[in-house]
Amino acid sequence: MTDVATTKQEIRSRVAAARSAGRSVGLVPTMGALHVGHRALLDRSVAENGFTVCSVFVNPTQFGPSEDFERYPRQLEQDRLLCEAAGADVVFAPSPQEMYASDHTTWVNEERLTEGMCGARRPGHFRGVTTVCMKLFHVVVPDRAYFGCKDYQQLKVIQRMVRDLDLPLEIVPVETVRDADGLAVSSRNQYLSADDRVASLALRRGLLAGREAVRGGERSARAVAETVRGEIVGQGRLQVDYIEVVDAETLEPSAPLSGRVVVAAAVYCGDTRLIDNIVIDVESKE
Ligand code: AMP
Repeated sequence: MTDVATTKQEIRSRVAAARSAGRSVGLVPTMGALHVGHRALLDRSVAENGFTVCSVFVNPTQFGPSEDFERYPRQLEQDRLLCEAAGADVVFAPSPQEMYASDHTTWVNEERLTEGMCGARRPGHFRGVTTVCMKLFHVVVPDRAYFGCKDYQQLKVIQRMVRDLDLPLEIVPVETVRDADGLAVSSRNQYLSADDRVASLALRRGLLAGREAVRGGERSARAVAETVRGEIVGQGRLQVDYIEVVDAETLEPSAPLSGRVVVAAAVYCGDTRLIDNIVIDVESKE
């Protein structure tokens, strides 16, 4: 049975017991409303570690004032069952009060990779993400932590933080899991009506069209972004938040496009914000 720990003290003692039994520790940080995307991270952690912790925490500090913190789906028992089916050992589901002291004033900031993309559109978002991940890493002390490529900028920022601050753990990236129609699975997909869902497929189509343009020889980031935009706005129901075509490691402009680049986009479908990305090896034809 996979149980739920709600305090730092509880999770620390669970992890300590696993460690003294010689088990390595994997952490899968999530905001809950778990789905097959999270499941892929959990499966990987369970395969690679003797003890897997799944944290479920809707982190208030990474939401802007006008974002969906209040309405973000919360379904802890369902999440616990999914963790159990995956073979995870414990769910760590602290309250915001447990996680943050009421007079919390210390933050972790990555200052370069967070400048563009979601960082530019969601002020303070990544400060909340890096701070909560740092706290989770200190509380759980995992050997490995698992992050999805769907949140590409987040993955890169966390990898950078771990490197820059010499944190003794490995960040393991996991490929984006998609529904059969190509839509990246997301907890926020729950907000979409049937019509919204069909419309949302244009995001993925746009990214694929961008990749086709690069394969066809296009080397201008702006031109690739316009191709992506054309596909998305052609749909009619989606609004572009941003489309960026940047170096896949530095997240800075690549002109002309070369090496590995990422095409990343965020769109609104009504009030629902969706993100997706595609990494392209520019010189490869595959
Ligand atoms: P979230 O609960 O949305 O904060 O996501 C928790 C973790 O699961 C993050 O590392 C995400 O990148 C990852 N994740 C979310 N959706 C997917 C997906 N469709 N495929 C792979 N990983 C995902």
